[in-house]
Amino acid sequence: MTPDGTGQPGAQALGLSPFGPATFLKAPQASLADPWTADVAFLGIPFDQATGFRPGSRWGPKALRDISVRMSAMGIGWAGYYDLRSDRHIGQCRIVDCGDLELLPLLWEHDFRLMTDSVAAIRGHGAMPLVAGGDHSISYPVLAAFAGHEPITVVHIDAHLDYRDDAAGVRYGHGNVMRRIRELPHVEKIVSIGIRSLRTRREDVEAHRRDGNEIHPPWTLRPRAIEDILPKGKAVYVSFDIDSLDPAVAPGTGTPEPGGLSYEQVRTILAETCRRNRVVGIDLVEVAPVFDYAQVTALNGAMLLVEALGALFGGRE
Ligand code: MN
Ligand code: MN
Repeated sequence: MTPDGTGQPGAQALGLSPFGPATFLKAPQASLADPWTADVAFLGIPFDQATGFRPGSRWGPKALRDISVRMSAMGIGWAGYYDLRSDRHIGQCRIVDCGDLELLPLLWEHDFRLMTDSVAAIRGHGAMPLVAGGDHSISYPVLAAFAGHEPITVVHIDAHLDYRDDAAGVRYGHGNVMRRIRELPHVEKIVSIGIRSLRTRREDVEAHRRDGNEIHPPWTLRPRAIEDILPKGKAVYVSFDIDSLDPAVAPGTGTPEPGGLSYEQVRTILAETCRRNRVVGIDLVEVAPVFDYAQVTALNGAMLLVEALGALFGGRE
């Protein structure tokens, strides 16, 4: 018997409940080995072994899934959302959740191969990979899965340049990732936005510029319009490090840096990038729930992914 005495099924039976196993936006689970079609495939990569300071981003995918269920339609799946800005229903797409990769401690070369193969499998299904790290090192094996693609511009949103070539022999850590990505033959340019870490090295900045990339620190984004710095009409991969946001709105990350971007700034970067280009993949990295408070970092990260879906599917603002 239900509380209203009717005996009718309650919220649980209607799928209204936020409890139970969480998938991203309550999307159906899909195995990479099975046949399926979807517009977007969410993949968790719980890897934080390339972290130099505070690990914990291996729990990022779980935190993003847990908070994302609130944006699912009546708790039963993803159906887009009404966007007050544009007075339109946007973001409607078919999305599946491919779960988390099963990684093996200290076998990072195996893990990187599995990441590349898994993202290639998602592309083989015809879906856009929406990848949740993990630390930022995962973006290199993820982008390696686009081998043979037309030249890709990477929109890199981060507090850190991540362009160190070699740190005492370390070449595949999360601080080297954009340097490795730029070496991929199918990557033609990196546009790095939000860079401000006081640990940035001049030689890395010079190498970054010499390689034909662009740096846009937070203080250059005002009053200059964000739209002016974004690529147009390109094949674009978006690599979104949560520490690009100010630590006030994203404390839950291994290497927070003061003076960061606002939610609205990152929303604009994501939405305008999606509107102006052919976005081939998106990752969100470095969400570390052990340092989070009130789920605010996971919430801001998940909502920004939702806003990216809104810009990609169904509409103009
Ligand atoms: Mn990074
Ligand atoms: Mn960073």
